[in-house]
Amino acid sequence: MANDHKILLSESELPHAWYNIMADMPTEVPPPLHPATHQPVGPQDLAPLFPMALIQQEVSTERYIEIPGAVRDILRLWRPSPLHRALNLEKALGTPARIYYKNEGVSPAGSHKPNTAVAQVYYNKMEGVRSITTETGAGQWGSALAMACQMFDIECRVWMVKVSYYQKPYRRSLIQLWGASVLPSPSEVTEAGRAALARDPNTSGSLGLAISEAVEVAAADEAVKYSLGSVLNHVLLHQTVIGEEALKQMQIAGDYPDVVIGCVGGGSNFAGMAFPFVRERMERNLDTEFLAVEPTACPTLTRGKYAYDFGDVSGMTPLIKMHTLGHDFVPSGIHAGGLRYHGMAALISALVDAKVITGRAVAQTDVFKAALTFARTEGIVPAPESAHAIRTAIDEALKAKETGEEKCILFNLSGHGHFDMAAYDAYLAGELMDFEYPQESMDKSLANLPAVE
Ligand SMILES: *Cc1c(COP(=O)(O)O)cnc(C)c1O
Repeated sequence: MANDHKILLSESELPHAWYNIMADMPTEVPPPLHPATHQPVGPQDLAPLFPMALIQQEVSTERYIEIPGAVRDILRLWRPSPLHRALNLEKALGTPARIYYKNEGVSPAGSHKPNTAVAQVYYNKMEGVRSITTETGAGQWGSALAMACQMFDIECRVWMVKVSYYQKPYRRSLIQLWGASVLPSPSEVTEAGRAALARDPNTSGSLGLAISEAVEVAAADEAVKYSLGSVLNHVLLHQTVIGEEALKQMQIAGDYPDVVIGCVGGGSNFAGMAFPFVRERMERNLDTEFLAVEPTACPTLTRGKYAYDFGDVSGMTPLIKMHTLGHDFVPSGIHAGGLRYHGMAALISALVDAKVITGRAVAQTDVFKAALTFARTEGIVPAPESAHAIRTAIDEALKAKETGEEKCILFNLSGHGHFDMAAYDAYLAGELMDFEYPQESMDKSLANLPAVE
């Protein structure tokens, strides 16, 4: 086993195909249902919002889907991403465990999100789409999509939740720098936005409302489509380049993980890392463990219910069978903005239900403590979202120290935290708190789940 800090692949070793776990699911994945009729949604229901190639990927059961050359050409700007052996962190912890991490923070937007943004924009371009709309919370997804649209010369409009628009100005600048227009949500340009402003002119907005605005504009014009940065099957599919590369890199390292760890918001970076290793586990009868890490403030997998629910707050999207806290769940103001979604990708939920993947919840102050340990040993300032995976990797390594087990740990570093300095400032000033989602609020929002036979 080499003691190198990083294991690099050449550009020609970028995977040629995405891995579609739908071909190998050990249990049935219940279909998405129409919000009004509760019948399975067909391609025609989704056609106003997505190009046909992405709708086909959404329902495909083909095991491998070829990555188009034009997409690979752009991914090669930063891929394959490095796999690091966290030698400094291991030493600081005094653990016999070996810790590896895949660094998705090396992309131009600083996270894994461009992996799917580039693919999605490509298929839109191929089908003659002129303009794409989306929503963004803290701005990670908006900036990734803006960059991809710029590269394929497509117009991009981003509805950014108003409170972030004013509090996180530099992600907004990044979106504009890559040529997209960004509107605070609620905006005056949509029916949904005007209605919200009429109700409360000072509203700070919400992700659910921003989705409604972006969807409304896309649905009204055939040349305009909508794009989503997580949760959907095709998004998870595009992220599997992470795990496919990591498999090759672990082989070069002469090692193999006992446990694979990632943070989960909607589930895309975790799935991208984990699914190729889930395939290996099934094919080779391994007993690899998979840990999906979420905040205690938004405990979708660990305390939510596996049931049909809407993907948005206003109940316009199809019903998805997933772990959910209820579509009217109101998240507390934790700093990992990307992990505050009430639901979870259907594929991850099904694998948690089948006991292949295990959910784990960690508290905010423990997460930032781990982020500092990581920054001070490995040097990289992690995104607060990614620091949830770091927390769990450190916990596993400390457990191994107690038992003397020479465990191999692999986690995904989904992004860097250079735009999250306000959160780090708050932590260093001792101002961060832990949130435990109250059972009473949970019972209340779960009581509003749609009744599906
Ligand atoms: C958006 C984001 C996440 C959460 O989204 P997933 O779809 O669950 O991966 C995690 N980390 C970073 C850095 C993000 O930008």
